[in-house]
Amino acid sequence: MYNYGECEICNTLLEEKKIHQDFWIKDKLVVIDNVPAGVCPQCGEKVVNAEVGERITELLNDARRIGKSPTISVPLIKYEAEPVAV
Ligand SMILES: [Zn+2]
Repeated sequence: MYNYGECEICNTLLEEKKIHQDFWIKDKLVVIDNVPAGVCPQCGEKVVNAEVGERITELLNDARRIGKSPTISVPLIKYEAEPVAV
């Protein structure tokens, strides 16, 4: 198990968890599941180690693999400012 050390923001010891990471590749959203990362239980900061970061880059550059992957649909919500009370 990789030692992620402490959170840079709040100095809490990071815990290893498997997370979802999402990336925008041009105008396409790609989600990588099961990414090992250090997650701060206090503030939610996420850190991946260099090896995992490199693997992520490889996966994201693998257009064939992305093309063959299952797709999920996600809600798309348009930002709207709250109506101002009169
Ligand atoms: Zn933190």
